[in-house]
Amino acid sequence: MAQKSVAGPEIERLIQLLAKLPGLGPRSARRAALHLIKKKDQLLVPLADAMGVAVREIGICSVCGTVDTCDPCTICSDPQRDRSVLVVVEDVADLWALERAGAVNARYHVLGGTLSPLDGVGPEDLNLASLVERCAAGDLAEVILAINATVEGQTTAHYIMDQLSHLDVTVTRLAHGVPVGGELDYLDEGTLAQALKARTRV
Ligand code: ZN
Repeated sequence: MAQKSVAGPEIERLIQLLAKLPGLGPRSARRAALHLIKKKDQLLVPLADAMGVAVREIGICSVCGTVDTCDPCTICSDPQRDRSVLVVVEDVADLWALERAGAVNARYHVLGGTLSPLDGVGPEDLNLASLVERCAAGDLAEVILAINATVEGQTTAHYIMDQLSHLDVTVTRLAHGVPVGGELDYLDEGTLAQALKARTRV
């Protein structure tokens, strides 16, 4: 027997969309939807406005691949940052984690993932060509590979080292503090700062 509807399809659609968010299953999506609806003026309307702005204004930086409302992004166009150092990360979440740690005042390059032949992710699927271009431009002294200590992360790091081996740039990696299999976004700021300080030449 088909289940009876308890509300209009608009509410079901809101729940289905919320259920696609990381960490939210159908049950918590239902709870979140109900919370939003009950707090319409305090929460639902401001959230809808913020999302409308996000849809209109937020894009991907054409230089480094992070998300921002301007292009080049705030970090790329910041004159206070050390332009001789480039920090390579897998994801925007890792960039944010490093910025929270405040360990480095450099610019970034966001790969958008890691090489994973099993999942069909090859070099052309990541921001790798633009990384080599930036490194070849000549004003960089050091490239820090702040890449997760997972199998895919290390495969990606080796690929990058190989691609940059003919260039006159020092490549370093994070050292102590990053557990094997660990993801940067889950580390506390102190561990992350330590790992960055103790980076090793490769
Ligand atoms: Zn940028």
